[in-house]
Amino acid sequence: MVNKFKYSDSNKRYYTLDYFYKHKFNSKVFKASINGGFTCPNKDGTVGFGGCIYCSKLGSGDFGGNKEEELEVQFEKVKNLISKKWPNSKYIGYFQANTNTYAPLNELKDKYERILKLDNVVGLNIATRSDSITEECYNYLEELSKKTYLTVELGLQTIHDRTSMLINRCHTLTNFEEAVKKLRKRNINVVVHIINGLPYETKEMMIDTVKYLSKLDIQGIKIHMLHVIKDTKLAEMYEKEKFHILTRDEYVDIVCDQLEYLREDIVVNRITGDPDPKELIEPTWTLKKFVVMNEIDKLMVKRDIYQGDKYTK
Ligand code: SF4
Repeated sequence: MVNKFKYSDSNKRYYTLDYFYKHKFNSKVFKASINGGFTCPNKDGTVGFGGCIYCSKLGSGDFGGNKEEELEVQFEKVKNLISKKWPNSKYIGYFQANTNTYAPLNELKDKYERILKLDNVVGLNIATRSDSITEECYNYLEELSKKTYLTVELGLQTIHDRTSMLINRCHTLTNFEEAVKKLRKRNINVVVHIINGLPYETKEMMIDTVKYLSKLDIQGIKIHMLHVIKDTKLAEMYEKEKFHILTRDEYVDIVCDQLEYLREDIVVNRITGDPDPKELIEPTWTLKKFVVMNEIDKLMVKRDIYQGDKYTK
């Protein structure tokens, strides 16, 4: 069957990051995770204590670099690995672990700009919280986005207050929306992170999160399955309450439904997570990332659906 999806030149029926990069940069582009040694205001008491209940020791950046090493060394290690297979590729510096705008402006400038100076770096991805970008930082990011391909990744996870409180996000939906508006006013690309399978959420609730995001001026989404990681509050909760963990089939079914409601120009930066096998308690099916991705492709074909089919303004 011919794939009629506008943003695909493969079997994918949704807008992949690979497709986006290929068309934007005319080259293979990889994200190089760098640990900038930042902390998080939701852990140190500034906005909350203890962090989000699922957050790992490494600040949900388990495949980021080693913060004890210089940023340039971390970057080179990633590049050396990738360039063996893809010698002419380009790179996006990815500040992933913890809250990467949570530091004085001069420190942010130093860390971001050191990466931008490196060979073949075409942009930066900065993962942060909507409540942790100061006005001076917004203005600096605007300047930066004129010089490079800049994306700010905001964690949202869910639009539902009850779940947001349960997972200890410690910011409101209004705060998130304001941050999106401030970033877009400055023409900065926004990618939003959501989690499926949060405790006690129904399929309808997860779909509602995507319906809501599709109406916002965002450029990308990351869809993850909830990972129960060792030594987290979530692991303690799971031990006591044994809340339902989505099966692979349930996850695939929900993601396919979500993709139908997702505006077609929103780039799907991720469609499943990448847990550290040594730290993961549940669900173990997420370790087979390519199987999950294939199952999503297969179900979209079986249902004959495409990203955005059910999106309405
Ligand atoms: S905001 Fe991010 S880094 Fe901070 S506690 Fe939550 S998941 Fe961890």
